[in-house]
Amino acid sequence: AVSATKSVVTSAKKAPTTLSSDRVINFARGDPTMYESYWRQMGEKCTIVISGHNLMSYFSNAGHFCWFLMPELDRAIRRLHCVVGNAVVDDDRYIVVGNGSTQLFQAVLYALSSSYDPDTEPLSVVAAAPFYSSYPEETDFLRSGLYKWAGDAYSFDKDGAYIEVVTSPNNPDGAIREAVVNRDGGKLIHDLAYYWPQYTPITGKADNDIMLFTFSKATGHAGSRIGWAIVKDIEVATKMVKFMELSSIGVSKESQLRAAKILEVISDDCQNSAPDKEENFFEYGHRLMSDRWEKLREVVKRNGVFSLPKYPQDYCNFIGKYTDPSPAFAWLKSKDGLNCDNLLRELKIVTRGGTNFGVDSNYTRISMLSPDEDFNLLLERLSAIKGTIINGN
Ligand code: PMP
Repeated sequence: AVSATKSVVTSAKKAPTTLSSDRVINFARGDPTMYESYWRQMGEKCTIVISGHNLMSYFSNAGHFCWFLMPELDRAIRRLHCVVGNAVVDDDRYIVVGNGSTQLFQAVLYALSSSYDPDTEPLSVVAAAPFYSSYPEETDFLRSGLYKWAGDAYSFDKDGAYIEVVTSPNNPDGAIREAVVNRDGGKLIHDLAYYWPQYTPITGKADNDIMLFTFSKATGHAGSRIGWAIVKDIEVATKMVKFMELSSIGVSKESQLRAAKILEVISDDCQNSAPDKEENFFEYGHRLMSDRWEKLREVVKRNGVFSLPKYPQDYCNFIGKYTDPSPAFAWLKSKDGLNCDNLLRELKIVTRGGTNFGVDSNYTRISMLSPDEDFNLLLERLSAIKGTIINGN
């Protein structure tokens, strides 16, 4: 394994002409900067003006169970889900806004575990491997007495209550998932961050007890730190609001208004039936992602060193035809069992290795959401490995 990795370095050094730049390119984070060019094209369409005297109060909707949620954002979220058809947002579903879905994940853990007897063991939190690398860290960071990370759901065999996180499409491997433990006493959190048409065919309206979505992956506006939960049970939703009160007394109104504006613009564009209408955001995103996936698959096929998961086509209700999934991350596997992350670092490509996601180091995760320039460099560098490892020279 060591000599194979070395041979990649040698090859990269011997043939500098194949690499247009020597800079390190980082694909370890899912920073969705790829969408910037779309939003730049939209010019002033999403601009909002906020004066010095606006939005000063802590409160957005006093008397509402989620008193810091701006009604504009509540409406915009419900409308977008109706337009896309990816989640049930009937009037009896409660929306809780958060500082990204990261904060809401912790709010849900609190809400689901706080009613358990404090003298009993912490509630186990599991997810099927490979799982999103932040779940274990977020769960155990404060060493809560209420809940505790218990690892891979496939090997979870403890009796009693538990929480399972179901991420679909999954981060890191893009798989469409369902709960795997399926025992009495289980509570489910559905993390649907990537259940949008640019990443996967929309096959129906998700209707789970607790669903998490994020502005970061839906539209690319990760910096606004807006996420939302759609919750069936008012008691769970109310406890989540309590958590939010204590951790940040709500969510920035500037961010909420900006998110509301952008979500409304997307909905308007999706519902525009003019014959000469422009591509809407999801059509644009889907075209871009499909194009990237096609190019990546071509390079991976040609160099023969790695493999990528295969995904079945499905009918996308939103796009109105069969589409191929084009996940936000590429889950790369080394065919020879090499440490994939180390191997790519030799080519100045930084990724997040399989062990972060609860599996072996022969897997690594590559973000597909980086700017064009970086993505093209990635393709170029992956092409340069061609044959090197197989030939062993
Ligand atoms: N869940 C999943 C599956 C994610 O991939 C991410 C972002 N990488 C998040 C949650 C967190 O998103 P946010 O930016 O809303 O905190």
